[in-house]
Amino acid sequence: MKPYLIFLILAFVNFTFAAEVKLAQIKTGDAKSSESLVYKGGKIFKQSISNHTAFLIKHDNEYILFDTGLGKNVKEQVSKDMPWWGKVLFTFENVNPAVEQLKAQNITVKDIYLSHLHWDHASGLTDFPDSKFHVPEIEMTEVFDPHVPPKAAAFLKSQFEFSKEQWSKFEFSQKEFMGFKKSFDIFGDQSVVLVSLPGHTLGSVGMVVTTAKKKYFLVGDLVWRKKALEALAPKFIVASMIVDGNRDEVTKTMEKVLAFHKTYPEVEIIPAHDEEVQTPLGYFPTWVTE
Ligand SMILES: [Zn+2]
Repeated sequence: MKPYLIFLILAFVNFTFAAEVKLAQIKTGDAKSSESLVYKGGKIFKQSISNHTAFLIKHDNEYILFDTGLGKNVKEQVSKDMPWWGKVLFTFENVNPAVEQLKAQNITVKDIYLSHLHWDHASGLTDFPDSKFHVPEIEMTEVFDPHVPPKAAAFLKSQFEFSKEQWSKFEFSQKEFMGFKKSFDIFGDQSVVLVSLPGHTLGSVGMVVTTAKKKYFLVGDLVWRKKALEALAPKFIVASMIVDGNRDEVTKTMEKVLAFHKTYPEVEIIPAHDEEVQTPLGYFPTWVTE
């Protein structure tokens, strides 16, 4: 067979079977603070809004979540398990749980992947009793292993009171993906791929979502603002001491993601809490505008 015919057949097969992939940002709540408390170099008198966002990914007829944001029981969880100083530092408002927003659109989610298990990302897990929760084993260790003391205001025990059956630990393959040495290809077609972003927690991960027109890199809490990544500015020191498991490792991972950003400037980087980046893209039930 002529080489160009093989090429045409392959192009046709690829065109015919490429999955439809869409991304939506489910805003589950927010918080206001001075920008100076968000990252080093932020302005003292500038108010900054931090979103609590769960990301919904549609892959053909299947839906998955990346993070849950604030759930139905967030107030009880915080009141029960958060130390008083954490309650002062980590306020939140306008709670609108992902489970209710999904229900209103008749969407069922079977699988939930998490950037990490901090309270503001895992709060909604108990709202999904029929779903599976996917994290690397090392992230579960940080929450459940008594020999690894979790940070007091970061992980809330009451958010993990469900059957062990719901947990699913995954392992990265050694397959390189866009400069990352290890990856986890969720659907096996490179459209939704997890990469390791260690530092904020032991098992922090990011997700690269490829839609028909654009790629998005969901970086969790590696940085709270895209601006901070571009300036390689760490989080406000006190906040970082509380939430970042290993600050040196966070810096190293930021350098790596900044290098990624320079190599692939067309990829939209979306931190979990960055209202300035998220608002122009639109919120669920609208899908991200491409
Ligand atoms: Zn967070």
